[in-house]
Amino acid sequence: MITVSRRAALMLVAAAAGGTGVAALALNAGDPPERALPPPPPGKSRWSNWSGLHTCVPDALVAPADVEELRDIVLKSKGPIRPVGAGHSFTPLVPTDGTIVSLDRLNGLLSREDDGTTVGAGIRLFALGETLERIGQSMEALPDINKQSLAGALATATHGTGRAFGSLAESVTGLQLMAADGKLLDCDSERNAELFAAARVSLGALGVVTQARLKTRGPLRLKRRTWFEPIDDAIAAAEERSRSHRHYEFYYVTFTGTAYCISHDETDAPVTPRKPNAENEGTEDLMSLRDWLSWAPWLRRLVAQGLISNQETESVVGPAWRLLSTDRPKRFNEMEYHLPEAALKACLEEVIAAVERHSEVYFRRFDGRPHWGKLHSLGARELAPLYPRWREFTELRRTYDPASRFLNRHLRNLFGG
Ligand SMILES: Cc1cc2nc3c(=O)[nH]c(=O)nc-3n(C[C@H](O)[C@H](O)[C@H](O)COP(=O)(O)OP(=O)(O)OC[C@H]3O[C@@H](n4cnc5c(N)ncnc54)[C@H](O)[C@@H]3O)c2cc1C
Repeated sequence: MITVSRRAALMLVAAAAGGTGVAALALNAGDPPERALPPPPPGKSRWSNWSGLHTCVPDALVAPADVEELRDIVLKSKGPIRPVGAGHSFTPLVPTDGTIVSLDRLNGLLSREDDGTTVGAGIRLFALGETLERIGQSMEALPDINKQSLAGALATATHGTGRAFGSLAESVTGLQLMAADGKLLDCDSERNAELFAAARVSLGALGVVTQARLKTRGPLRLKRRTWFEPIDDAIAAAEERSRSHRHYEFYYVTFTGTAYCISHDETDAPVTPRKPNAENEGTEDLMSLRDWLSWAPWLRRLVAQGLISNQETESVVGPAWRLLSTDRPKRFNEMEYHLPEAALKACLEEVIAAVERHSEVYFRRFDGRPHWGKLHSLGARELAPLYPRWREFTELRRTYDPASRFLNRHLRNLFGG
């Protein structure tokens, strides 16, 4: 029997993650192209993002062991400097022929106080989950994979689901940032407050974030339920479910008329054993079906609906940091827009038509804002009117990095410099 999962749905898919103050839509842009790239010159390494869409040969790729080493790099390296996390962004935020700095070695638990837990900014989200569990703490919400670095996830306003929760950046109560002049600045609502507000979602354009203090909570155990149902029912129920569940999302499985729905709710029920992961085969099967039967859309719909109607409702219990995250072994490129909630239904219908009938979708018509880490083609002119504090951000950036050392081509297009 084919197992169709959250990820399987995503592979095919026009996906709608509903349930927060804004709604996110993701349009899978298909398999990344296979490209034969020349080997880097001797002594250099090629950097590539997760999907393989963006690559570069930087002058240096470095991972300082502490802030003193980082300061040396910031002050002595020539050319642009780009901080990097796990390279999981789809936008070209990182590529440079200058220096790429990874904070992979600044990744530990630093302190636990009443107002938050402080960690090295290079910590990966899966390690953050484990680390917090060891001290009886948890994040309120997390994105749907956990391979990103904390600093990278903050920098692009990475988010999970749940009407009550914002992006990860909203859980930051303080941070430390190394600016272009090598100064290490403590930032929170009282110290360098303006910089603090901007540096939580900075695209790495203000300097290198070295540590962050996070608002955490006690242990969080969730029960996940997954089920399929007709897409029209899922759309009709979306708003109510986003209020009645702690986390709720649904994905449209294209060419089937069917939605894949996922809810997560807090529970103290015993943790269920983890099942072997059969999701990859499910993904491959659905993709093959999409391609083999592309000549007969009616037959494809019928076969897919038949396969999907065999699916049982799944119910599992586990710690939030494990349950909210999935693996994504299959590489892809992705676009995502955040929309006003009132626009969700109309926009989702347009996305479905775009995928199934090869028409076009214009997220901008729905007042959408692109996810900073996912594909979009907007420049400063289009973005500035979408953000009331755009100008303040660009001015602050100029103050802290007057020589624009932290900009690459993509960021120059956004912020000038
Ligand atoms: C398979 C997959 C699933 C995803 N799922 C989700 C999801 O559920 N929700 C969501 O919102 N997004 C999701 N994303 C997007 C992803 O979370 C973001 O693109 C995130 O920024 C990636 O983190 P990273 O550590 O890989 O950062 P990178 O991509 O390496 O860098 C991102 C930005 O962070 C900056 N940066 C990195 N480290 C620092 C630092 N120390 N100081 C200052 N700036 C820094 C970089 O300069 C860059 O501008 C997903 C991406 C993939 C590939």
